[in-house]
Amino acid sequence: MKIETLKEKEILLEGHFILSSGKHSDKYIQCAKLLQYPDKAEEFLKIVVNKVKTLDFDIIVGSAIGGIIVAYEIGRQLGKPVIFTERKNGKMTLRRGFEIKEGQKILIADDVVATGKTSKEIIELFESLMAKVIGVACIVDKEGIDIGYPIYSCRKLNLKSFEEKDCPLCKKDLPIREGK
Ligand SMILES: [Zn+2]
Repeated sequence: MKIETLKEKEILLEGHFILSSGKHSDKYIQCAKLLQYPDKAEEFLKIVVNKVKTLDFDIIVGSAIGGIIVAYEIGRQLGKPVIFTERKNGKMTLRRGFEIKEGQKILIADDVVATGKTSKEIIELFESLMAKVIGVACIVDKEGIDIGYPIYSCRKLNLKSFEEKDCPLCKKDLPIREGK
């Protein structure tokens, strides 16, 4: 997928942003505005579906909130069941009666994999449940990131973040926005 397409669909914003981690970046990724259109969600996630459709897995697990629509649309295209994880008191967990059986093969889905922190939390959760994670599907992931499992995305991007004191954009006095 072309970078221009990501910019055109407002998935990729450029400028000077404060991320939720508190770090600064010249890029901000958001997928919610694209995913509000079911036809666009279908078109973008077809790219990911084509990469995962020959893999052997039983269930897709989205990460709430960002991964729910991504997981659902992949599941819809492949005819696979979809559940999601969410945080309770900060800890990633399965609620709502969702269950995973020992040995079940899982594809994790999220909108963006940037730091890999959420993916790793979900992987740990399913390893503790004796399930088998086969990889992570997403719309955008960070170039060079290693979460110990394959990542299947529409596009890899060169995402950099800086501590405020080291931020080259602050040094240029560029106005900053909150990424949200
Ligand atoms: Zn800055």
